[in-house]
Amino acid sequence: MKNRKILLVEDEPKIREMIELFLRKEGFYRIYTAGDSGSALALCRHEKPDIAILDVMLPDQDGFSLLSAIRTFSDMPVLFLSARGEDEDRLLGLGLGADDYIVKPFLPRELMLRLMAVLKRVYASPVPEQLPIFRAGEQVVDLESAAVVREGQELPLTAKEHAILIKLYENRGRIVTSDAICQAVWGDDSYGYENTLMVHIRRIREKLEADPSKPVHLLTVRGLGYKLVVQEAR
Ligand code: CA
Repeated sequence: MKNRKILLVEDEPKIREMIELFLRKEGFYRIYTAGDSGSALALCRHEKPDIAILDVMLPDQDGFSLLSAIRTFSDMPVLFLSARGEDEDRLLGLGLGADDYIVKPFLPRELMLRLMAVLKRVYASPVPEQLPIFRAGEQVVDLESAAVVREGQELPLTAKEHAILIKLYENRGRIVTSDAICQAVWGDDSYGYENTLMVHIRRIREKLEADPSKPVHLLTVRGLGYKLVVQEAR
């Protein structure tokens, strides 16, 4: 669930930053923010978020009109942030297809619980996710969607890089021989792939490491193989 893309639309910078910070602390890392409905709409089209948190009172157009515009091309779940009173009445009366709403002022914890409830209701899959998400320092490696998220940028992993990382992750904290990795990636005909493996390792480091020339997560253990040192994502 924590790998879901969240769009947060709130024009008050302090509230926006507070919510964003809280979501990040809770382990969400794909958060897109907007302060008006124009840029929110553009983000919706480009990033295709999985869920949106929309403030009702926005400078250009209110959250209800924004939702109507979103609904012309997206069915994603929406949670409104509303001021007590009039907004709330309209929310209840209009039946706009929002999944939930929360009345300001609210506790971040409460927003989180409602967000998780909506995400679970909409996206819960009958089979548990098979591939893990982990952290390499500031970078988040999402093996489920085969990407590294680096400074908010999503860097896709190639099929080979993905296979190498899966093998290393299964044995994280331990040395994995080049032979074992090659076999996992290229199968039984993997003889002679050591140099190719080195090239792939270098490309993975460019995505994973803060300084690819001084790796601290994907380590070379001279003469033996490689070792992945990472943290579990929450
Ligand atoms: Ca507002």
